[in-house]
Amino acid sequence: MPPMYKYPNAKKIKASRSYTIPEVAVVLGCSTRTVRNWAGMGLRVLNDNRPFLIVGDDLKIFLAEQGKSRKVRLGPKELYCLSCKEPRRPLGMMADEVRQTAKISRLVGLCEVCGGKCNRMISARTLAEFARFFDIVSKDVRTA
Ligand SMILES: [Zn+2]
Repeated sequence: MPPMYKYPNAKKIKASRSYTIPEVAVVLGCSTRTVRNWAGMGLRVLNDNRPFLIVGDDLKIFLAEQGKSRKVRLGPKELYCLSCKEPRRPLGMMADEVRQTAKISRLVGLCEVCGGKCNRMISARTLAEFARFFDIVSKDVRTA
């Protein structure tokens, strides 16, 4: 596997102050080009005046989200909640199985914390293992 790009530690960033792009690069030890890339990925940049400024708080949140989305590990009894953006158990341990292809299924449930949709892509051959923990209703879209 290729090495994963590691996002820098945002602990050095002070939430209450604003930084110019070169300042962010110095504090985090990355290039200004990298910081500009983050702006393209959704990091908020205050660009009404020059120099452009990045609020520390925005940067902290951005880095935390980027880091998280890369290392979500789901436990055997968990789905991923799209609202909480966290692994969650589904309400009542109930899940619908929606077959995607011959080999891949999606388990869909409701988050026990927020009630939002949570799901997980699984290999169809592992369905029996998940059926040990979840009350699964199969919804095969091809025959529905
Ligand atoms: Zn949730």
